[in-house]
Amino acid sequence: MSPGPLRKDYDLVIVGAGVLGLFTAHHLAQKMDPRRILVVDRGFLSYGASGRNGGGVRQQWETLPTVRLAKESVAAYRRFPVEFGFNPWFRQGGYLFLAFSTQEEEALRRVHATVRQEGLPIEWLSVPEVLQEVPALDPERLVGGSCLRSDGVIFPFPVLWGLYRSLRRAGVEVLTRTEVVGIDRAGGRVSGVRTSAGAVQVRSVVNAAGGWSRDISALAGLSTVNAPTRHEIMATEPLKAFLGPMIVTLRKGLYFSQSMRGEVIGGINLPHPKGGAGSMPSSLEFLREYARELTTLVPRLSSVRVLRSWAGFYDDTPDGLPIIGEDPRLHGFVHANGFGGHGFMLAPAAGPRVARTVLGERTDLDPALFSPSRFLTEGGPRTVEGIQLG
Ligand SMILES: Cc1cc2nc3c(=O)[nH]c(=O)nc-3n(C[C@H](O)[C@H](O)[C@H](O)COP(=O)(O)OP(=O)(O)OC[C@H]3O[C@@H](n4cnc5c(N)ncnc54)[C@H](O)[C@@H]3O)c2cc1C
Repeated sequence: MSPGPLRKDYDLVIVGAGVLGLFTAHHLAQKMDPRRILVVDRGFLSYGASGRNGGGVRQQWETLPTVRLAKESVAAYRRFPVEFGFNPWFRQGGYLFLAFSTQEEEALRRVHATVRQEGLPIEWLSVPEVLQEVPALDPERLVGGSCLRSDGVIFPFPVLWGLYRSLRRAGVEVLTRTEVVGIDRAGGRVSGVRTSAGAVQVRSVVNAAGGWSRDISALAGLSTVNAPTRHEIMATEPLKAFLGPMIVTLRKGLYFSQSMRGEVIGGINLPHPKGGAGSMPSSLEFLREYARELTTLVPRLSSVRVLRSWAGFYDDTPDGLPIIGEDPRLHGFVHANGFGGHGFMLAPAAGPRVARTVLGERTDLDPALFSPSRFLTEGGPRTVEGIQLG
């Protein structure tokens, strides 16, 4: 356990030192006294999904506002090494979505129309063009692919380290191994946070607890729709470079890329029971299903050895979009959660908007798409982002 907070009162506590909490703290520290910000995490810096993800950063989305956020994130990650002094090896090798049926092609062509509106040079590749891009693919039943070459893959850890070091230098307190165990309210607003290392008075709380965000909301007496789902991922032994883009298939939710070290890293969507974000075991079922699908698509990988596999939690919402904004039921309680499998690629753009919300400033986020209130009306919203992959 940490020695505890330095002060008795802060302007705000950010719960969760993952990529969302740290980007939010970074933007707040530019606009207010950094010593008034406390970031608390019960684990270590990369304990949550931010240290367990595939590092995919794509701008191919179904809605224009999300394309815009992702485009802003890409620009931010390109600046990251210069801005933070850490190189997260952001490799813009593209994202190649493969279609194996006309329905899948139609779904991807709808994404095309949206992405093109934002002026991004997305391409539709015929089967021979896909094979020219990735000769190792087996083209059986393939009908084409959607490729955006400025999408890419990032190494998550240096992003967290860079943000952490910058926050510490600015004077923001980041307590790890410290659990938030209670949130106090008085007169309809947040008034304090109790942690395993002591209590503090605050005016705001940012819930950036990823797969555990539902529990943090519950500590403040708020029920939310967030559902943690366990997802597994795997790395092979390093191979000579053979794969430029991140490959994604809609049919099974398979995704894989090749890291700068040569490992093939990827996962697959399996039907998982939703529920509390408890332990994060790896399973044989995942290895079997992922290996089967991967080697069907890239037969030459069938003799490759598995180096390691691990698991983490998506924080899913019913419409596939994150929740960003103050909770209308509790003044000062700000959500920065529900990012599903996309928090790493959206965090650089979400962080400044969460920060503005905390400071009571307006943001350009459409409340119908991103605000917590969208789930408080009867029926709630329909699915907006259906492609919940990498
Ligand atoms: C296998 C896998 C692959 C993924 N692939 C991608 C990808 O390719 N691209 C992409 O953009 N996204 C991907 N994601 C999703 C992405 O990793 C997450 O959306 C993102 O990291 C969420 O960041 P966060 O800061 O909200 O949460 P987290 O990183 O989970 O951080 C939340 C933190 O809250 C802390 N916490 C919880 N409860 C408490 C408490 N009571 N007190 C104090 N602290 C607490 C936890 O310890 C944790 O560190 C993937 C996720 C997984 C699991």
